[in-house]
Amino acid sequence: MTRQIYLDYAAATSVDDEVMKAMQPYFSADFYNPSAGYLAARNVRRNLEQARADVAGCLGARPSEIIFTAGATEANNLAIQGMMSQFPDGEALVSTIEHDSVIEPAGLFKSREIPVDKKGRIILDESSNLLTDKTVLVSVGYVNNEIGCVQPLSEIAELIARVRDQRRRQKNPLPIYLHTDAAQAPNLFDIHVSRLKIDLMSLNGGKIYGPKQSGALYVRTGVKLKPLIVGGRQEFNLRSGTENVPASIGLAAALNSAQNQRKVEADRLGKLRSLFVSQIEENFPAAMVNSSSKGGSPHIISVTFPGYDNERLMMELDELGVQVATGSACAAGSQQPSHVLAAIGLSDEQARSTLRFSIGRQTTEDHIRRTIKALRQVASD
Ligand code: PLP
Repeated sequence: MTRQIYLDYAAATSVDDEVMKAMQPYFSADFYNPSAGYLAARNVRRNLEQARADVAGCLGARPSEIIFTAGATEANNLAIQGMMSQFPDGEALVSTIEHDSVIEPAGLFKSREIPVDKKGRIILDESSNLLTDKTVLVSVGYVNNEIGCVQPLSEIAELIARVRDQRRRQKNPLPIYLHTDAAQAPNLFDIHVSRLKIDLMSLNGGKIYGPKQSGALYVRTGVKLKPLIVGGRQEFNLRSGTENVPASIGLAAALNSAQNQRKVEADRLGKLRSLFVSQIEENFPAAMVNSSSKGGSPHIISVTFPGYDNERLMMELDELGVQVATGSACAAGSQQPSHVLAAIGLSDEQARSTLRFSIGRQTTEDHIRRTIKALRQVASD
């Protein structure tokens, strides 16, 4: 094989050429601190604010509702810690398949987990006793980064709106908000916060062909957060520190481009996913496809190869030029079997036989066919 076949887009994407071009001046000619008073610095401020307006435009939000962060981990922490630290008696409700950057901050407070079904969809309705009169924050990821399941955010938002109404009638002043970690969503899905009725949304540039450590938290007007980082009052006093101008400009460019191509890309990746799944089923009758084709994101395909060790498969595929993941690369170096796969009913042994294939802009039909060929070499039944 001549070139590597990269099938780990859920872990990282390369920076798009246009994004790189948009960022470049802010490392050199326009390096200024946007808070400085001279004209050149004020121009940088104007461009940073334009980037904020562009991100807001993609979300159908106001610029004042966008807080730039260093990636989604920080955005999730700001949403959860920034909210929960204000309500010592309040409870957070997070789905059991959330990314660790949601689960761990929620674990610092009183919190409960929402279970999921075999396809990873959350099980939550009025009759479940999970939503209590103490719930302050419900956090449900938009697209799961290990199995690609997509949660019905608007339905959850409607449920929360009904709880809000009930509290108003019962004169319970405790607020209740919906947060979503949308790190894996913008390449393929609508992220319009009014349509989805979201109060807080985390974004991540490193998954959308922008730079790593770029990101944002959308905070609906009226939702109050306590900052995690204080000192310089930047980002509406929610994230102090001299702004990372190139990263924010890069995030805006990447998000615009992702949203412009999302329908075409969803269609293209959907076809590649169908091809891959049908080839898996044909060539590996014992394999289990954990990702749902119906309603799931087309870019993530989780497959269990019973009897095979996923670390070994990953390394052997790497030697054949195919780069895949054994789970989430975000839990750096973790040897624990995935909590997401456990939540959808896989045993530890099955989880340790599972690979995550994630496809993206550079993936072609030829890549899929060559990956199946490589898999046949390392995992023939
Ligand atoms: N949330 C989700 C769904 C992710 O997939 C990731 C990274 O893979 C993160 C949060 C964390 O992103 P970062 O490590 O860039 O902050």
